Amino acid sequence: MPDRQTAYPRPPSNFLTEDHETFRRTVASFVDREIRPHADTWERDGKCARDLYTRAGAAGLLGLRYDPEYGGSGLDFLATCVLAEELAKGDSIGPAVALMTQSEFALAVLADEADEELKAAWMVPAIAGELIGAIGVSEPGAGSDVAALTTRARRDGGDYVISGQKTYISNGTRADFITLAVRTSEEGPKGISLVVFPTDTPGFEVGRRLDKLGARASDTGELFFDDCRIPATNLVGEEGQGLRYILSHFGGERLVIAAFAVGIMERLIELGLDYAANREVFGGPVLSLQTWRHRFAEMATRLEATRLLAHQAARLLSDHDPAGDMAVSMAKLHAADAVQSVAAEVLQLHGGFGQMEESPIPRYYRDVAGFSVGAGTSEIMRELIARSLT
Ligand SMILES: Cc1cc2nc3c(=O)[nH]c(=O)nc-3n(C[C@H](O)[C@H](O)[C@H](O)COP(=O)(O)OP(=O)(O)OC[C@H]3O[C@@H](n4cnc5c(N)ncnc54)[C@H](O)[C@@H]3O)c2cc1C
Repeated sequence: MPDRQTAYPRPPSNFLTEDHETFRRTVASFVDREIRPHADTWERDGKCARDLYTRAGAAGLLGLRYDPEYGGSGLDFLATCVLAEELAKGDSIGPAVALMTQSEFALAVLADEADEELKAAWMVPAIAGELIGAIGVSEPGAGSDVAALTTRARRDGGDYVISGQKTYISNGTRADFITLAVRTSEEGPKGISLVVFPTDTPGFEVGRRLDKLGARASDTGELFFDDCRIPATNLVGEEGQGLRYILSHFGGERLVIAAFAVGIMERLIELGLDYAANREVFGGPVLSLQTWRHRFAEMATRLEATRLLAHQAARLLSDHDPAGDMAVSMAKLHAADAVQSVAAEVLQLHGGFGQMEESPIPRYYRDVAGFSVGAGTSEIMRELIARSLT
């Protein structure tokens, strides 16, 4: 495969400032240096190197939206989009998933709801990349239906005693702490709370590292809790408000997936244009064939529509506009469809070479299959959008 030559002609943005574009170049050079050269190794290992987190922390990539008091950069959701778009171009989505799970999924709710002691103990070192964080919500019997979770936290004096199981947890096999959803009472949705769970707690065990279709350079674990005793001061915010906190922070997770899709589509179109310009069929380059030129036109249109939806959602989320929820659901729904169709087109474009593991194309094809599942499935996105309309 030829080296990357074509730079996708990204149109000027009505949403991004010059500072965002400067930041984009910083992240792109981090990806060129710290991610893409290691992608093959980490795919084989089933996880990225632990020091990726410290390197990302040192580069200021793990606390973009958080207060500088905690080591963050005080930026907006558009910066989050730029970060996720560029991280996704590392020829493997796993490292991007690992880093964004830490910086967005595990920390966002702590930034908004945790007290100063919890922030100092967990958020500050996580932003520096010294600790790895995970978000533990899903269980074997509770995925889309978060309120069905059964992992129990029983109050015992000044402690919670936690028993239960989580599954599909990104960063789960080596997280130092988990922002963990637990049931503190039987009151249905109002019985759910969030705690910060240190993984050196006796009774905690990591089960299998799950073998996945895509995102293979990000570890995904099964977790078991057997009478794990943690201080009640590890409660995040108020008891019984956990479901509200989870639902109100899904926006950031969904935006990240939409932005991953934007970055991957850019990378795939660039790789596809290079391949089509260099591959000769019947005496001319594939790119001279109208059927492929038009397919590139459609792919670029899908990419730009996704980018606009994602950046609009980022603007609304940054402004705390109530319309942000519907916008981010639309962005994620559209992004998953768009990137899956672009990945399939670019795979087909590559002919036999697209089937070869030495190319990043089949890896991206597998990676994006999960975009219609993680952080809320496409069916759930449709339901949320429909509720906003009716
Ligand atoms: C790679 C990966 C990483 C993940 N990382 C994490 C993580 O770090 N932390 C975490 O907590 N979770 C994580 N998850 C779990 C993820 O959030 C869930 O898989 C997802 O929410 C779907 O839940 P489920 O798998 O139980 O599917 P289910 O909820 O059982 O859904 C099964 C099917 O039913 C459909 N469905 C469900 N409800 C409805 C409805 N009301 N209307 C129509 N259709 C419906 C779904 O769309 C789906 O097609 C991860 C998952 C994957 C694949």
